[in-house]
Amino acid sequence: MSMETLFTKIISGAIPSDKVYEDDEFCAFKDINPAAPVHVLLVPKKVIPEIGAAAECDEGLLGRLLLTANKVAEQLGIAESGFRYIINSGAHGGQEVPHLHLHIIGGRQLGWPPG
Ligand code: AMP
Repeated sequence: MSMETLFTKIISGAIPSDKVYEDDEFCAFKDINPAAPVHVLLVPKKVIPEIGAAAECDEGLLGRLLLTANKVAEQLGIAESGFRYIINSGAHGGQEVPHLHLHIIGGRQLGWPPG
């Protein structure tokens, strides 16, 4: 049995979301609490609880995650102006949802370093 998470419920449609992209392997939807004018979460349908739990067999998935993020950033109109990809991990990383996801953030000048 595969693990259920907040994001598997969003992917299945059990919890409503504003989806911007979906294919066989990934789903992207708008963050409910956006940190910038553009803030989308790109989520693998496979539940990997955090980036550190990814295995050798996930090598392809992780590569496709970034390439798919590029496609979504292009679709969202932030590819030229610039953007940031963020993967939070664990307590100090500020991860709230234990299902690997990539934040795609843009649409304004972003500060550095992050808080
Ligand atoms: P993280 O802190 O990296 O685990 O990020 C989890 C993100 O999920 C946060 O930015 C939340 O705002 C976002 N989030 C939580 N619930 C929902 C939801 N129902 N729909 C969309 N985004 C959500």
